[in-house]
Amino acid sequence: MKVGIIGAGLGGLLAGAILSSEGYRVDIYEKLPFIGGRFTSIEYKGYQVGTGALHMIPHGKRGSLAKLLRNAGCRVEIVDSKPEGEIYWKGERETLTKKTFPFKDVLRFYIQTFLSSGKKNPTLEEFGKGLDEKTRYFIKSFLGWSFSIFPDQIRFSKIIPIYKRTKKHKGPGVPVGGCKAVVEDLAEVVVSNDGKIVMEKVESIKAGKEIALYSREKKEYDVVISDVGHKLTMELLGRRYGTVKPESRGVKYTISIDEPFIEHSGVLFTLGMEIAGMNEVTNVDENLGKKHMLQAHQPLRNGTRAEIIAGLKNLKEILKGYKFEVIAIQSYKGDWPVNRVMAGFDEDNTTPYKNLYVVGDGAKGDDIEVDGVALGVEKVLEDLL
Ligand SMILES: Cc1cc2nc3c(=O)[nH]c(=O)nc-3n(C[C@H](O)[C@H](O)[C@H](O)COP(=O)(O)OP(=O)(O)OC[C@H]3O[C@@H](n4cnc5c(N)ncnc54)[C@H](O)[C@@H]3O)c2cc1C
Repeated sequence: MKVGIIGAGLGGLLAGAILSSEGYRVDIYEKLPFIGGRFTSIEYKGYQVGTGALHMIPHGKRGSLAKLLRNAGCRVEIVDSKPEGEIYWKGERETLTKKTFPFKDVLRFYIQTFLSSGKKNPTLEEFGKGLDEKTRYFIKSFLGWSFSIFPDQIRFSKIIPIYKRTKKHKGPGVPVGGCKAVVEDLAEVVVSNDGKIVMEKVESIKAGKEIALYSREKKEYDVVISDVGHKLTMELLGRRYGTVKPESRGVKYTISIDEPFIEHSGVLFTLGMEIAGMNEVTNVDENLGKKHMLQAHQPLRNGTRAEIIAGLKNLKEILKGYKFEVIAIQSYKGDWPVNRVMAGFDEDNTTPYKNLYVVGDGAKGDDIEVDGVALGVEKVLEDLL
């Protein structure tokens, strides 16, 4: 069976690697001069600066992505973060444990988990009222780091499946070699199985009983998998996309620092600040930077300069006394957002055409980031294999 894949992002490469190892003839099209989309890095000033991702996999080696990578025959090593998280609150740092939050807040969380299956389904902002200040700011920081959204932008019921998966698979991990090592490993699998990665933009899709992709030339396939989101897929078909869904926006700061600041491989959630959190992945793989590399992430409401200036002020405050340099400030919105649709708005992987699927961000399963992407890919594979 011949499969055409639009986009060599993580979703496209993951689907391509597994299908090619199952004997499918796979062509993956990529419009940019590099593969990996928002899950790779480019060397800049001696640092592996992510094109998007912060070199982290939400559930490390126990999650859905790690499982599919193993199935595909990838050898990339993922190091689970230890501790999973720490908080920075009013100038003090504290490892994140069950005891970090007052028992009454934890109890309210469990009660709301039960209630949210019924009619009472508040936003996280509404839920936060009445909670301890530290708990409330942690919720904000966690949502900003993991989803790049604010507490008023998500309802409680949407975080329940993610909370359950986090309980089951635990916290994040960092791939040795960063996100680039993951996508390069997948590409190697594709090529070793006689798949092709064609560095060409797909201009349109013709779908019906037969399906064809138009890049420099027309090519027919049995199945097409699009890794460019539902909206763009519909545009490539020349169809109108229904309701436009809100995207999530953010800004990432890459910082070179002489001495390690975080000193571990987990996330430092920065409470009560514009920036949501930071990591220091050079503690896992020192080859990711010529010195230590800190990465901070901040969700953006409007994408204004003032929001970024406020984030930079936070960094100065947190890193007071350290010798550091902000080497890159990358903002993500429009065609290159943090997430094509806000958490809770992902669609499933099917389209009006039986031979056309959508994978990747925007068509994630019930999980965060690349582990959500993996769940979506898994669903398509269940249909095809
Ligand atoms: C700032 C930021 C931080 C993040 N941090 C993390 C993190 O630490 N951990 C994590 O798990 N996730 C993180 N994410 C999310 C993660 O990066 C994405 O969920 C994931 O990379 C999405 O992969 P994808 O394959 O769906 O899409 P993409 O990476 O966008 O891939 C789509 C590909 O399709 C190509 N393409 C588009 N149109 C065409 C066309 N017409 N023809 C051919 N090719 C085309 C694009 O060039 C691109 O390469 C972060 C995202 C951002 C922006």
